[in-house]
Amino acid sequence: RRAKRDGLGIAVFNPQDSVSVQDHLLLRGELRAALAQGQFLLHLQPKIFLNGGEQTRGAPMGFEALVRWQHPEQGLIPPGRFIPVIEVSDLIHPFTLWVVDQAVACCARLQAIHPGVGMAVNVSARNLLDGAFPRQVLDALRRHGLDPALLELEVTESAIMADPARALDSLHALHALGVRLSIDDFGTGYSSFAYLHRLPVDALKIDQSFVAGMAADADMRAIVRSIIEMSHTLGLTVIAEGIETRETLDLLWGMGCDVGQGYFIGRPAAESSAVAWLRDR
Ligand code: C2E
Ligand code: MG
Ligand code: MG
Ligand code: MG
Repeated sequence: RRAKRDGLGIAVFNPQDSVSVQDHLLLRGELRAALAQGQFLLHLQPKIFLNGGEQTRGAPMGFEALVRWQHPEQGLIPPGRFIPVIEVSDLIHPFTLWVVDQAVACCARLQAIHPGVGMAVNVSARNLLDGAFPRQVLDALRRHGLDPALLELEVTESAIMADPARALDSLHALHALGVRLSIDDFGTGYSSFAYLHRLPVDALKIDQSFVAGMAADADMRAIVRSIIEMSHTLGLTVIAEGIETRETLDLLWGMGCDVGQGYFIGRPAAESSAVAWLRDR
C-alpha cells in the first residue's frame, strides 16, 4: 500500500500502513530537507513536583521537548508520523543534535524566569550507539552555558536493549557529564529489574497507559504503586506521564510519586506558552 501523499509527492508515514520502500525513501528525503530548511519546531510540556512539603508541591520541575514538523502544505505533523522514519536512518544524528541544541538554548533562556527549571529531550537507540554523542551533548551545554544537571535525556528500554553493551557505555559517558537520564515509557518494554539497577539512570517515567487506566482499574493502580515503590527502593525518581484528570493526579500524590506530567497539568505548547505557564506559578 502507498502512503498517503499530497499533490507534491509528499508521503507521510502512518504507523498503520505498511509503507513501500519507495515511499519510505521519499519521506526520508523530505525529512532531510525539512531539517535543512528549519521546518521542525519544539513544543514544551510542563512537569511538576508532586512530592516535597507544601511549599514545593506543585512547583515547576521542568519541561519535556516534543518535536513537531511544521509542514508547508500539511500543517503541524506530530512526531509519531515521522520519528519512526528518522530513527532508522543516519538522519537521527543531526536531527537529535538539533533538538538537543534548541532544547538546551531554550532551557538556558528559561533560567531567567524560573532558576533551576529543567529540560528533557527524547533520544533514540542509534544516538546511544554513536560514540561521539556524549561529547556533542557536552558541546551544546557549553555553547549555551547550561548546567548539565538541568538536562535530562529520556531513553526507552527497547532503545537500550537494541545493543545493551554499547548503550551502557554511552549512558555511563552521558552520566559522567552530569546529565540526568531517565527510562521513558517504563513498563512497556521487558528489561529485567535485575538489569535496571545496573543502569546509570536517575528516573523512571511510568508509561501513560498505566497512568491513564489507574483511576478506573485497581490492577493498574497496583502496577503504578509497585513501580513507585520499586523506584524509591532503587533510589530513583519516578515520573508519571499522561495525567489527564484531577483524580489521577490525587491518586499519584497519595502514592508518593515524585513528578507529574500530562494534559491536566499542561499540554505541549510553544516556548511563549511555557514562559506564560512559568510566570503564572
Ligand atoms: P513520549 O516521549 O513518551 O512523549 C509523551 C507523549 O505523550 C507526547 O506525544 C505527549 O504530547 C503525549 N502526552 C502528554 N501528556 C499526555 C496526556 O495527558 N494524555 C495523552 N493522551 N497524551 C499525552 P507526542 O508529542 O505526540 O510525542 C510522541 C512520541 O514521539 C514521544 O513519546 C517520543 O517517543 C517521540 N518524540 C517526540 N519528540 C521527539 C524527539 O525530539 N526525538 C525523538 N527521538 N523522539 C521524539
Ligand atoms: Mg519522552
Ligand atoms: Mg513516554
Ligand atoms: Mg512514547
